[in-house]
Amino acid sequence: MMKNVRWCTSCNVPIIGELCNICGNSGRRCAKDLKPIFNSERALFEELLGIRLPSFTFRYRNRIISEGRTFLTFKLDAVNKRLMPLYHQGQENTGYAEEVDFAEGIRLTIKANVKHLKEKERTAVNFIKEATSNYSRTFILFGGGKDSAVVAMLAKEALGSVPLLFIDTTLEFPETYKFVEEFSRTYGFPLIKDDDGEYYRAKLNFFQLCKRLGPPSIYCRWCCHIFKEQPVRRFINNHLNDPTDAAFLTGIRRCESRRRGNYAPIELGKRIVGQTLVQPINDWSDLEVWLYVFWKGIKINDLYELGHARVGCWPCPCTPPLMDFVRQLTHSSLWTKFEEVLLAYATENNRSREWVRKGLWRLRRPKRQKIFVYPLHIEGGDSEILFKYFIPHKTSLFEWLKILGDVKADEDKYLKLKTKRGFEVRCKIEGPQVKLMVKCAKRDYISVKTLIEKVLFRSLNCIECGACSGSCSKGAIQAIEGKVIINLKKCDRCWSCLKNSCIVQDSEKMYVVKLDPFSLIPCEKGLPMNHVIFLSKEIGKRVAERFKARGVNVEIHEGGKVICIDADITREEIEELVLSALEG
Ligand code: SF4
Ligand code: SF4
Ligand SMILES: [Zn+2]
Repeated sequence: MMKNVRWCTSCNVPIIGELCNICGNSGRRCAKDLKPIFNSERALFEELLGIRLPSFTFRYRNRIISEGRTFLTFKLDAVNKRLMPLYHQGQENTGYAEEVDFAEGIRLTIKANVKHLKEKERTAVNFIKEATSNYSRTFILFGGGKDSAVVAMLAKEALGSVPLLFIDTTLEFPETYKFVEEFSRTYGFPLIKDDDGEYYRAKLNFFQLCKRLGPPSIYCRWCCHIFKEQPVRRFINNHLNDPTDAAFLTGIRRCESRRRGNYAPIELGKRIVGQTLVQPINDWSDLEVWLYVFWKGIKINDLYELGHARVGCWPCPCTPPLMDFVRQLTHSSLWTKFEEVLLAYATENNRSREWVRKGLWRLRRPKRQKIFVYPLHIEGGDSEILFKYFIPHKTSLFEWLKILGDVKADEDKYLKLKTKRGFEVRCKIEGPQVKLMVKCAKRDYISVKTLIEKVLFRSLNCIECGACSGSCSKGAIQAIEGKVIINLKKCDRCWSCLKNSCIVQDSEKMYVVKLDPFSLIPCEKGLPMNHVIFLSKEIGKRVAERFKARGVNVEIHEGGKVICIDADITREEIEELVLSALEG
């Protein structure tokens, strides 16, 4: 567990170890963690608060700390874009801090903590050596922040020069692009840059995706899947023969968020299967990282000097509100562009301007509205079932169908494919729609249903974002010039890509095609009843019995081919019983 920061009242500096290394005092409790306030950052806060701050100060959330005591607390008024002081200790109590400038204060702080920093460094270096010893290759996931910079320097100490893997999310601050180049040049780290950023920049950029999927939120971080995780997957698939034989060093720390609080120093990738994450500063506090940076004189991103506490994508919904506010001030042109997208979304979805200004967009939960497509007609022979549909025409339909089997035109100008599981799909474009037929053996129905519903979900909803291109270990899903294509030379129809979710699952609207072996027709006399038409009397009878056992009123017609049932019974409830009836 992270220890609280203490303050040595004799030397007037924070201490993170047991004792002050200058005077030997244990100090008194000060704050959970501290972040030093840089000179330009201080000027920004002074302007916003209308209060002069001592030169050598720290911040913990909305609390400014000087001489180990709370100097000032403030509140963010996001709507009116201002900071409001709440508690102010007063200038008269800060005589000492006035005399110490930032650089001198930091120099003393390092002196007071040097033993602790050396111990931290020694532990992290040994950990890196040990944790990476079983892997042939090691990379540093380098995002341009202070944490990955510290990890890079520790790795250099432990292993020599290790390549930096920089994933260009296309959403980095200009300072970050500059810093990444400078850092690798200054310290001689080879820099590997993911070049897929070009794909997103040119074709489906972040703003267009916001229109289609809604702005990202803390509950719906589609941007991370598209712009961060998938490029890493692609890198692994394209460049590593054995993904399990590489270690990826990261600067992830437990204190950064509740979710990260559970991370272990070595984690096996949950979203990126086969990836090993090694996190040497997992248990470091903010202050420990900062003091290490100052102690070693490590180059850092200019954004910190401007007042950014974290470096990352500029529209990130997970940025704390205060930092979001600072970003809006320091990079107003980036924010203005994004704000336009947010306001357009708000207007379309009956949200107020306040929703944008208060930052409530960050808490958006997607509606995930499903537009169900049911078979128009079902035919059942002795051993086969045929489903007929009209579905919207999408270019991605034919691309995704390729993973089922070879598509060929038949004599009736239908595109036809036969799968390795023996079921058959035929389709034909008719104006804005596609006539689609699926024929399968009755005994295979349940497994075919699962597979075909997943493929048709992708086929009808795919926006060609490319996010799933890394989910195929054979590299068969390719995002090329704004198109997602299935490379049949590589695809072996293992269908494992269907196990990963598609980005559209977290959007506002999506088509869901149901391969249901029954039709549901409302009562033609207007009674609150539905007719359920089955493929066979046996299934109808079985379903009726199961409903009766649940106390539902059911009328059986045509020996079980049709049952009449209360209109309150949902399609999902019927589907559940039909599936169990089919299973026996
Ligand atoms: S199926 Fe299409 S929309 Fe879904 S993740 Fe893949 S490329 Fe993106
Ligand atoms: S995961 Fe399997 S089915 Fe999907 S594209 Fe790759 S090889 Fe083809
Ligand atoms: Zn001291």
